[in-house]
Amino acid sequence: MHGWILRCCMLLLGCWSPAALAEPALLLVNDLTQAPDLSSTAPALATGPGRETVKAWTRAPHDHLQWVELRLAQDWHRDSSPLLAVGGAIGARVVVHAPPDYQAVLKTRYDIGLDQGFSRRAMIYRLPAALRSDQPIYLAIGQPGQVARVWASVDDIESYRAADLGFVRANTFFVSVQFSMLLVILCFWLILRDRVFLYFIAYDLFVVLYAMTDSGEFYSLPGAAWLGQFSFHIPQSMSALGSAFSIWFIIEFAELRSNAPRMARWLGFMRWPFFALAAATWLTVLKPELWHSHLINYLVVVATGLSLASTWVAWRRGNRQAGFFLLAWVPLLSLLMLRVVQLIAALPQPTWLEYGFPASMAYAAIVIAVGLADRTLQARIERDRAAHMAQTDPLSGILNRRAITQRLEEAWEDSGTTALSVLFLDLDHFKRINDNFGHAAGDACIVAVAEAIRAEIGATDSLGRYGGEEFVIVLRDQGEAATARVAERIVERIASLTVHVGKRAITFTVSIGHAIRDAATGSAKELVENADSAQYQAKRAGRNRAVAFRTLQTRQNESEHVNE
Ligand code: GH3
Ligand code: MG
Ligand code: MG
Repeated sequence: MHGWILRCCMLLLGCWSPAALAEPALLLVNDLTQAPDLSSTAPALATGPGRETVKAWTRAPHDHLQWVELRLAQDWHRDSSPLLAVGGAIGARVVVHAPPDYQAVLKTRYDIGLDQGFSRRAMIYRLPAALRSDQPIYLAIGQPGQVARVWASVDDIESYRAADLGFVRANTFFVSVQFSMLLVILCFWLILRDRVFLYFIAYDLFVVLYAMTDSGEFYSLPGAAWLGQFSFHIPQSMSALGSAFSIWFIIEFAELRSNAPRMARWLGFMRWPFFALAAATWLTVLKPELWHSHLINYLVVVATGLSLASTWVAWRRGNRQAGFFLLAWVPLLSLLMLRVVQLIAALPQPTWLEYGFPASMAYAAIVIAVGLADRTLQARIERDRAAHMAQTDPLSGILNRRAITQRLEEAWEDSGTTALSVLFLDLDHFKRINDNFGHAAGDACIVAVAEAIRAEIGATDSLGRYGGEEFVIVLRDQGEAATARVAERIVERIASLTVHVGKRAITFTVSIGHAIRDAATGSAKELVENADSAQYQAKRAGRNRAVAFRTLQTRQNESEHVNE
């Protein structure tokens, strides 16, 4: 078992560990204070050496375009051509002016015509094979009103492809896990029809769609390319809807309304701003691109804090599902917080965050799926307990009247050709026991009788408490003589039974009537009535005995036999 886990872990690590890659080229980066003169094909070099880096993180301020100049630290000498990769720009505009012609090229990860040879993790610009260190590349980042944080690096094609493949593998794996969980829960819902499964499906579906549309990979799917024109609106509305359904899910899943009612009310209220934001994304007159993502990010921070606090309270109050939620969500929400802070503060995105976020979403989906299965198991345990209680006599622990009647009906249906008999027991002068020793002593006698009878009957026979101090036994496959023997044994056993209550020893007897199913018996009910009437005969004959039921016909036959 452990060997398998280890092998799986190694396989996963193997998927993500990048192949032996050449380092990205060393770059010199200059933030320019004004736009460069791009009218000539080889623009003048900006002054100053700039900072030296392999991955240039840079940020456009709020109010104007930021121009950045990149240069290779050395002329390009590698075998494969250089590629400029620009990434990290969530919907931001980055216009690239690269040699040899310095034409403005604007690409976004949502473009239909992007190079299909690469993932959409970054925009790829092919650079000339003979790129020199004195040929600058210019980036114009952002647009008025938008803060953008982007990175740029120059790699050779082979290395970039290897790293890109690792990224695609990891993301495909994480998205597949989430999608699989979604399908599993969908199956659960189809069978169990529990509303909470639907909330999870909606939440997970929107999260998967958000991840795929935000990364742009969604638009590579067959027939989805035309949706690229809504590249801003779709991921924004998916993330708002995902957040709204996650709230719905957690309120139901951790039963917050009963465990943390006030916080659940606040949390429930927060669904509506998310729905409003999901709709507002599409109202272009409101210029959502200027404020929308920030507002969602702030709301997510508040909703996250509130979800964690309320599930913590629910968990402390003993709710198992809340424990599952915390186990699933704490890593995810911690990373989500960091991601939101990174976006709000326009900080560089570290690689562990880039990979950790989808990984934690996949992990959360697995834990929640297990939690949902556990919820189903708990419901089954509760249902079984309720069914058991509905069938059991609380005092003696044997079947109650309804259950023993049902057993008899079932046995009646089954026993077409095999024997079936019923014993009806009534304790003798039981009122006296209550009167002389008290009701609690009477109860102790009833429990002792149930135990004594159980010791005398087989595993396939059934015993139930029919009324106050009346018991019914259903015997299977026992003929008349065998039934009579069981009845006699019980009479003797009860007669020799002593129940000790305090210092007092109580003894008593029982009267039993027994009847066997025969052609004259029309129903299970009649069989019990026959046994009961035989029990009355036992009482009349002096108690402490067992009497077999005799039909009128049998009795006539018997008397004729005696007269002869
Ligand atoms: P008989 O020999 O004719 O059966 O006399 P009896 O006193 O047993 O009469 P009957 O069967 O009619 O009375 C049943 C008595 O059993 C009535 C009630 O006081 C007592 N009883 C019924 N249910 C319970 C119970 O759950 N606990 C106790 N302690 N007594 C019960
Ligand atoms: Mg009685
Ligand atoms: Mg009685």
